[in-house]
Amino acid sequence: MPLIPMKLLLDKAIEGKFAYGAFNVHTTNEVKAAIEIHETFRSPVILQVIEFATGFIAGRKDFLKATLEEKIEGIKIISKIIKEEADKTDIPVVLHLDHGHDKELVKACIDEGFTSVMIDGSYLPFEENIALTKEIVDYAHEKGVTVEGELGVLAGREDNANHSGSLYTDPNKVCEFFKKTSVDCLAISYGTSHGAAKGKDVVISKEIAIASYENMKFNKIKGALVSHGSSTVPQYLVEGINSLGGNLNNAHGIPIEQVLEVIPYGIAKINVGTDIRLAITRNVREYFNKNKNIDENSSVGEVKKIIDERPDLIDERVYLYPMYESVIAGTGMTPIENDILQCVEKGVKEIVGQLIVKYGQVGSVDLF
Ligand SMILES: [Zn+2]
Repeated sequence: MPLIPMKLLLDKAIEGKFAYGAFNVHTTNEVKAAIEIHETFRSPVILQVIEFATGFIAGRKDFLKATLEEKIEGIKIISKIIKEEADKTDIPVVLHLDHGHDKELVKACIDEGFTSVMIDGSYLPFEENIALTKEIVDYAHEKGVTVEGELGVLAGREDNANHSGSLYTDPNKVCEFFKKTSVDCLAISYGTSHGAAKGKDVVISKEIAIASYENMKFNKIKGALVSHGSSTVPQYLVEGINSLGGNLNNAHGIPIEQVLEVIPYGIAKINVGTDIRLAITRNVREYFNKNKNIDENSSVGEVKKIIDERPDLIDERVYLYPMYESVIAGTGMTPIENDILQCVEKGVKEIVGQLIVKYGQVGSVDLF
């Protein structure tokens, strides 16, 4: 099927009081696995690519330093991969840009066929955030593309969006933001955070989501709220990684019950990245534990070396870089590279499968 705008999914989710997971993907196998597991559960899928990962997709090792040209190259590559995979499936696929900061890049995504983009002006003063978001909305809506904005600042680390403290969203400003920007959905800061160290026994401020939603209803604003940094950081994965030579400290997530509690209050999209990385890393470590005789000079040998040297590492973009060609092109791979990519696919399916059942999106393909 051709890609569809995210707004179509958000409207159905709000109507049905469920949510869609939005899953970060950076490699061909992650894309394939995420689509396949959504097919299994008969649900449309939201695939998202974070701006700062686009440099990796374009082949830059130190991808956080990628230039605009390299990022746009990455956008073209991933957009082609996802469109090709979407053509092979009968479930609707959304291609979304996560945390777009550079407006030229956001516009390039729209030009390259993304069906949804986020413009993150949350670091700007309120009026400037509105002006930036509005500029993107005007450009995107003309082409039928959905736009997500952000109000309030999330704590935690997400590529180079790094904030030590959070600034919760003011529910009184939410309606004004929707009205002045015509944005389709809005990421709110209410106690979730990016990365694997969300804190032990974290309690999210669901009142912020509830107050925002009630105000929107009262003001007859049709829009959706988005929950970022919502990984649950399953402890069985943390323990698994640590028992296989990893060393993750203070890795805690948002308890799933808390996330599920806010879904009826307009939270129609829930972003998940960290949980997928944890599952992939556990699988890759397990593989190396079982297969000791790997040629040190092969690409997979280099992957193993990075993993051995970095017990705290869960970013597959960093340790899979030595097999970049296979990871992105998905061709010409050696059997052992294929084994590693199977670890990646299984990790994606394990997490995405669990979460889409919990979010209530199973079977929702019938709504389209
Ligand atoms: Zn985020």
